[in-house]
Amino acid sequence: MTYQAFLIKYSEIGVKGKNRYIFEDALVRQIKRSLYEVDGKFIVKKQSGRIFISVEGDYDYDEAVKALQHVFGISAICPTVVVPDEGFDALADAVVKYVDEEFEDKNFSFKVMGRRANKQYPMTSMEVAAEVGARLLDAFPEMHVDVHNPDKIIYVEVRENIAIYSTEIPGPCGMPVGTAGKAMLLLSGGIDSPVAGYMISKRGVTLSATYFHAPPYTSEQAKQKVVDLAKLVAKYSGPIDLHIVNFTDIQLYIYQQCAHDELTIIMRRYMMRIAEHFAKENDCLGLVTGESIGQVASQTMQSLNCTNAVCSLPVYRPLIAFDKQDIVDISEKIDTYETSILPYEDCCTIFVAKHPVTKPKLEAIEKHEHNLDEKIDELMKQAIESVEIIKVK
Ligand code: ATP
Ligand code: MG
Repeated sequence: MTYQAFLIKYSEIGVKGKNRYIFEDALVRQIKRSLYEVDGKFIVKKQSGRIFISVEGDYDYDEAVKALQHVFGISAICPTVVVPDEGFDALADAVVKYVDEEFEDKNFSFKVMGRRANKQYPMTSMEVAAEVGARLLDAFPEMHVDVHNPDKIIYVEVRENIAIYSTEIPGPCGMPVGTAGKAMLLLSGGIDSPVAGYMISKRGVTLSATYFHAPPYTSEQAKQKVVDLAKLVAKYSGPIDLHIVNFTDIQLYIYQQCAHDELTIIMRRYMMRIAEHFAKENDCLGLVTGESIGQVASQTMQSLNCTNAVCSLPVYRPLIAFDKQDIVDISEKIDTYETSILPYEDCCTIFVAKHPVTKPKLEAIEKHEHNLDEKIDELMKQAIESVEIIKVK
């Protein structure tokens, strides 16, 4: 069966009242963006509580569905047959033909769901459903009706045209990207931060990202891995401006000047400061990290308190209460896991102490950071000025 249309269902957007059109328009934009790379000519339109995609000529069905499964805001993708409205008999014939082609084995229970978006139509939704059901039973005696627990639901929607579908391929749900402001993701090459980016973006947030590398201690492959992860996240979030910051001199300076058990925490504070600089420069309303309470020494509540203290923007930590396995499960689902586990060194792992503090005191950390007074402003300035920005799509 070839489908020349998709009916797109969306969930939470439906409850946004007067602002609903903003969400629908954003969803239309994101759908167009996702289909841009797919072979075929797609026309995307809003139509009474749904979004309709019609396709002209040949197209790659599997690629189209895959692309749509990356668009936040979509709750279901329904491959649909569309026929012109030429009276009820033509409608019923079209549904019979649809069922005949769609289901080789007709031995199943079903119900018909009618929906009448065109209020001029001379029959109610209930009448359409009942009458189409009767015609199907006439045509295929093996089929039987079960309104409570049917094997299949045959949807018939009367609008400018008649839309017929029975398959609902799950979408990623969430809110369309572009409806919730922008955030700066601290993206490392690990498992957690790409998942954090995915989750924030799922609430409609546009992403920018910052990665700290430490050449020559970290390799070109480690950097490429982060670019690749950004690409995988961008399939969902849309384009990401990835800021690549050379962190080597700052890390070496902290290493020289500070107690080694406090290295990681002080380093994390400088990462946050620099990421916040780029966040503000890019109109971001918050920072995003992949931190989760207790996962490592730098993520105890005491450590998070110290890291947080340098930020004036809110820091969003979508994984804060997630177990590692839960995070791994999501990273597998969104296809970042295999890239995340590639064995390239991270700048945090190079200068780590054997026994980092797990309960740092903010006053002590603030005091010890004064050891950096002589050069740190200049080093921060250099790191910021030498940023490389990669536009990841
Ligand atoms: P991840 O799997 O995301 O790397 P992690 O378990 O390795 O996390 P940490 O290394 O403590 O944890 O990092 C905590 C968070 O700090 C990361 O989730 C990420 O948001 C940020 N971060 C850590 N290292 C970097 C880096 N090199 N560049 C950018 N952000 C980083
Ligand atoms: Mg890491």
